[in-house]
Amino acid sequence: MEHRISRKLGNIQRSATMALSDRARALRESGHQVVNLAGGDPYFATPEHVVMAARSALAEGFTHYTSSRGLLELRAAIAARFRERRGVVRDPADEVIITPSAKHAVFISLMAVLDPGDEVLVPTPSWVSYGAMARLAGARPVPVPLSSEENFEISRSQLESFLSPHTKAIVLNTPNNPTGRVFGAAELQDIAMVAEARDLIIISDEIYEDIVFEGAVHRSPVEFQNCAHRTLVVSGFSKTYAMTGWRLGHVSGPRSLMKEVLKVQEHTVGEAGSFIQRGGLAALAGDQGPVRAMVAEYARRREWAYKKFQDVPRLSCALPEGTFYLFPDVSDLGFSDSHSCAQWLIESCGVVVTPGSAFGAGGEGHIRLSLTAPPSTVEAGISRLCEALSALG
Ligand code: PMP
Ligand code: GLU
Repeated sequence: MEHRISRKLGNIQRSATMALSDRARALRESGHQVVNLAGGDPYFATPEHVVMAARSALAEGFTHYTSSRGLLELRAAIAARFRERRGVVRDPADEVIITPSAKHAVFISLMAVLDPGDEVLVPTPSWVSYGAMARLAGARPVPVPLSSEENFEISRSQLESFLSPHTKAIVLNTPNNPTGRVFGAAELQDIAMVAEARDLIIISDEIYEDIVFEGAVHRSPVEFQNCAHRTLVVSGFSKTYAMTGWRLGHVSGPRSLMKEVLKVQEHTVGEAGSFIQRGGLAALAGDQGPVRAMVAEYARRREWAYKKFQDVPRLSCALPEGTFYLFPDVSDLGFSDSHSCAQWLIESCGVVVTPGSAFGAGGEGHIRLSLTAPPSTVEAGISRLCEALSALG
């Protein structure tokens, strides 16, 4: 039966990353030996002290609504960390909101900012959900395709060439999923200058802020050109603390914007889970040793994988500066596009990767591999993939 659904969904597809992870699961359940390198879910266990804190909260009956902004202690811990890292003061009372996932934090931020007819600049390749969320808000995502030849760098002139009288906001993601780039000070300065000159709101998704490798430094646009008053910073617990299933994130920004963001939170999910937030508090307040250990393990894997890729003829791969993804360029291997390369990899060696085209036009010609599966799985998957691609001759 044909239902009369919202026109907004007409040009929105399922999340490619989620659909691919479902596909990998289905193939495995039907007896296929597949290796899933498509999803970004750390296989590490959530640190024990975090689990214990949530358990204690459950045991003591901490199972009711919290403030719609989230637990004040958790907001204070986030604001303290933000001040220490970025030198920007956010008042825990009304400039920080705890959200059920960073994904929801991005969504409510876009909903609070965008109107139908507005345009939002999205440098691509970019994470799969920004464009869809902008459309759900009735606005038009305007991809700003970055070039792999220029190491996916953003320049002021390039941003300016995509501005229109309707441009209202820009979505940034650093460290970047899928490229693994950490935007440099000069790029952030350029973005900040464009935002200031054109009165744009910046939504800065910094969920990979802790997964940065030697030599790279994560900076936020709030540190540049007095941009703090026009920037909403999103981050979360999924990646840093291996807490993807907990669904916990946050957004902070100036109170003039945050009061609008709060309305969307209150009329959609209300707030994040109470005992989940207690886990988040333990994550921020407790030992950061597990985070250092996970990042060291990602660093080891990325170097190993990077070396493997150097031996595959006609494939090039940059060494990621952050995140747990690799984004090799497969455009010289004879496939018609990244989708057919990904399809071929499933069929020829049972390895599931995400085609670069899922991340927008700027991602075509690449595939994204995630280093988050158990070590033996990552090693088996990348070895099989490199062998298959090398055999193409
Ligand atoms: N932003 C980016 C760039 C991501 O890769 C992810 C991963 N899912 C998210 C936001 C959302 O994270 P979560 O909803 O698990 O907090
Ligand atoms: N962020 C992860 C990814 O890019 C998880 C899936 C999603 O939320 O898109 O694979």
